[in-house]
Amino acid sequence: MKAVRLFEIGQPLELQEIPVPEVGEQDVLVRIKAAGICHSDVHYRAGTSPAGPLPVTLGHEVAGVVEQVGAHVTQIEPGDRVCLHYLVTCGQCEYCIRGHEQFCRQGRMIGKHRDGGYAELIAVPAQGVILLPDEISFEHGSVLMCSSATSFHALRKSRMQPGERVAVFGVGGLGMSAIQIAQAFGALEVYAVDINPDKLAIAESYGAIPVNSQKGDPVRHIRRLTGGSGVDVALELIGLPLTTRQAVLSLAPFGRAVLAGITDQPTEFYSYWEIIGREAEIIGCSDHLLQEFPLLLELARRGKLDLSRVVVRSVPLDAAAINTVMDELEGFGGDVRTVIVP
Ligand SMILES: [Zn+2]
Ligand SMILES: [Zn+2]
Repeated sequence: MKAVRLFEIGQPLELQEIPVPEVGEQDVLVRIKAAGICHSDVHYRAGTSPAGPLPVTLGHEVAGVVEQVGAHVTQIEPGDRVCLHYLVTCGQCEYCIRGHEQFCRQGRMIGKHRDGGYAELIAVPAQGVILLPDEISFEHGSVLMCSSATSFHALRKSRMQPGERVAVFGVGGLGMSAIQIAQAFGALEVYAVDINPDKLAIAESYGAIPVNSQKGDPVRHIRRLTGGSGVDVALELIGLPLTTRQAVLSLAPFGRAVLAGITDQPTEFYSYWEIIGREAEIIGCSDHLLQEFPLLLELARRGKLDLSRVVVRSVPLDAAAINTVMDELEGFGGDVRTVIVP
């Protein structure tokens, strides 16, 4: 089968013909119908976030149709429409048992530590295979597995209450979902902060109040719009020291900033004025959980989480086309979300 793989850090991905993966007794073989190209993939290719052992097939946002199931798989059948939890975990360690499987010591991520979805087929343990409702397309199903799920997890980590104000820094794939999920959770107002007017227009169409940080300091803008008080929750989804700082500075007293954007650069704060004095909190958000998918998929099934303005382009399973999309993401440009349709 065809697979588009990372052979060497810092080099373009390459198409390779590899054997169809073996299907163990607990495994499910899925014919891939959609695989999202994610900003994390750019970090794996560049080496900012270490992937491997190499070569590895990238692609951790995967939806498709079950082709074959292992002898011990009972809940999933050939022909089922499914999407995949990207963390393959042991299911038995203390973290897995407590439902915090992102800290499983044996956890391996598809498309990073083991072969992922930039391919025709993938085999994964059945425990991470989720039925995809008919109302949700494969393209949307794939993106729900990463950017939407991480936004969902970030908002849960923020302990957002109905009636609170939320600022979303970065309205790419994660941000567009964060806006809608915050509204579904009862946010009073959601501010969308970005420098890209096209993305801000889409964010506004989803009900957010746009804040263009190229036209001035977004922190002052948010303070003005909130009568000086700031927001209760700020999500940092970009991964830049500047926007991380802005997210924290936009907080009201007792505000919570959740950081989900990846950067290898440090961010500076004046702990007294900027954090202690407001009893502000900075919260890390890593991945998301299997237990979060039922509600997330239900929000999408009901149209409360609509990705039709987010997933706007598809490319074939072609190394050059995929590398081009990744190059655009690396420059923080390109479409909001591109999906590979093999
Ligand atoms: Zn992703
Ligand atoms: Zn575990």
